[in-house]
Amino acid sequence: MFEPVTEFIVSGNAYYDAAGYSGREDEVVPVSLIPIPARIAAAERELCGVLAYPQERLAAIIREVGFRCNLCSRCCTRAFNGHVFLLDRDTAIARKIDPESVEPAPYPEFCDQNGTFYVSGYALRAQDDDCGSCYFLENNRCRIYDQRFSICRVYPYMLHREPDERGTLDWRQIAGLDEHGEYHTEISENLCQEAAAETREYEIACIRQEIAFLAYIQDYFARNRLRHVQKVYDDRMRAFVRGDGIRIRVFYHGMLEEHLICNP
Ligand code: SF4
Repeated sequence: MFEPVTEFIVSGNAYYDAAGYSGREDEVVPVSLIPIPARIAAAERELCGVLAYPQERLAAIIREVGFRCNLCSRCCTRAFNGHVFLLDRDTAIARKIDPESVEPAPYPEFCDQNGTFYVSGYALRAQDDDCGSCYFLENNRCRIYDQRFSICRVYPYMLHREPDERGTLDWRQIAGLDEHGEYHTEISENLCQEAAAETREYEIACIRQEIAFLAYIQDYFARNRLRHVQKVYDDRMRAFVRGDGIRIRVFYHGMLEEHLICNP
């Protein structure tokens, strides 16, 4: 389901967008109103943070948590995890397996004055069941397991900063702790190092894709005399929920691909 971008705000010492990027102090603003240069700068700071994060430390956390998948398959549903955002390289694989498996990611970042939305990439489509199972989930198993995507490979490990309940930004290294799987199992040193390296590489690729998208939109808007208009965003999104179609341009491999989509 295509949805509006979440509006963040946090007071305290930072604001954040959906990727946890921080900005100036004591601001309470919709993320879509944060100027693009500020968002690029925040993403670059986040990138520096991930690059500087010692792989050894992440490997030690992975070892200590000792997570083991118990094949519950909850992590492959939108009810548990929201949508599966794809790096461009994963979108290419997904399209090769089945072109119908991807759709514009929800939460578009921008909407121009003409009512066209812009989003930074594709997501895996969900099935039309109660929990929003991934397109590739069948009988509680991934039917393309050997070709599964970057995020599916590293999950539940992660390496990015998120605010806690008091708004303090700190690193998170594991998703859904104690909500799925088993813990405190033995994991070999090699596997811990491999998981840490792969997780770090995934997070770096994600931030780079976001930075490339923001830089592209900044230039594209300037060249075409476009601007983000929050009111148009909100009006079009309300119309979409009522059943109108919308036009959305998806950033993919350094270009925008256009789609017309309707609320099913
Ligand atoms: S591609 Fe496979 S592993 Fe990834 S979310 Fe879908 S079912 Fe799960």
